[in-house]
Amino acid sequence: MDKIEHLKNFSLKDFCTIKIGGVGKVVFFPKNVEEISFLIREYGKENIFPLGIGSNLIFSDGFIDKVFIHSKNLKKCEITQENDIFYLTLEAGVSFKTINNIVKKYNLEGFENLSGIPATVGGAVAMNAGAYGSEIFDILEEVWWIDKDGNLIHSKKQDIKHYYRYSQFQEEGFVYKVKIKLKKSNKDISSIIKQHLLDRNKKQPLDLPTAGSTYKNPPQTYAGKLIEQVGLKGYRINDIGFSSKHANFLVNYKDARFKDLINLLELAEKKVYEKFGIQLEREVKIVE
Ligand SMILES: Cc1cc2nc3c(=O)[nH]c(=O)nc-3n(C[C@H](O)[C@H](O)[C@H](O)COP(=O)(O)OP(=O)(O)OC[C@H]3O[C@@H](n4cnc5c(N)ncnc54)[C@H](O)[C@@H]3O)c2cc1C
Repeated sequence: MDKIEHLKNFSLKDFCTIKIGGVGKVVFFPKNVEEISFLIREYGKENIFPLGIGSNLIFSDGFIDKVFIHSKNLKKCEITQENDIFYLTLEAGVSFKTINNIVKKYNLEGFENLSGIPATVGGAVAMNAGAYGSEIFDILEEVWWIDKDGNLIHSKKQDIKHYYRYSQFQEEGFVYKVKIKLKKSNKDISSIIKQHLLDRNKKQPLDLPTAGSTYKNPPQTYAGKLIEQVGLKGYRINDIGFSSKHANFLVNYKDARFKDLINLLELAEKKVYEKFGIQLEREVKIVE
């Protein structure tokens, strides 16, 4: 296993977009299925944590005794075409920026609403990431993944459990490769993508470290609206706060501490429950 690229006792802050966290035991950067299977068999599924770019993750301070498997060396992309249908077969570490470049080059529709999400393919499928009324499962066809025993499994979309911001991969397995289906478009896909990016820039605090939406939107309402209505928009505890630009986004003003973040989440959850009887459900994944 020493042959697989890895880092021991590494800084977790460097592996998440909100830049909070202590020290991780070890992070491996496998290059292929064999290496992923080997790591899962060697360490046991319960000790493994798959990692993308950490845009939905919050790590605790202190030491995290887990074996992280990062997808940065899994970046192969294959494009096949059948008339006006394009299939993209993408390894877990392919970024949404790379997919944007492909869909702009061939003017493909189906991905444009997801274009501004900072994600890898693996993280997006695990989270069933979505935006502007679309989600990754809308265009997903197939997934190749490694199960808890280290076996490579091939599943069709209809056989994978998923719903709003959830797929079964949050609990089991490592997404190795996916196939998505897109279509040649008559619309100007580049300009739609540009509009979405401008809209995000206007509404989201992209100038500070953040982990995106903190809570899932409850049915018929928005988590950000509820946080605002209990007076927590722009509220901070030391260096962590709910952004004054978008109340559902936590922002790290400089050296945010995990303890303050948890206190802030508990405060918001309590206030929203007391005022509206709604239990906010965390979208960010807390890793301790
Ligand atoms: C500025 C900003 C804007 C955002 N906007 C949106 C948005 O519009 N819509 C939205 O849905 N999300 C949004 N997010 C959240 C985040 O980008 C998504 O959840 C994204 O899918 C996470 O991808 P990732 O690769 O960073 O995964 P990570 O954050 O690294 O991991 C997220 C989860 O996926 C699992 N995972 C990662 N890789 C794999 C793999 N290969 N196999 C199995 N499991 C894996 C992890 O274990 C973890 O449970 C935003 C975040 C930020 C910072």
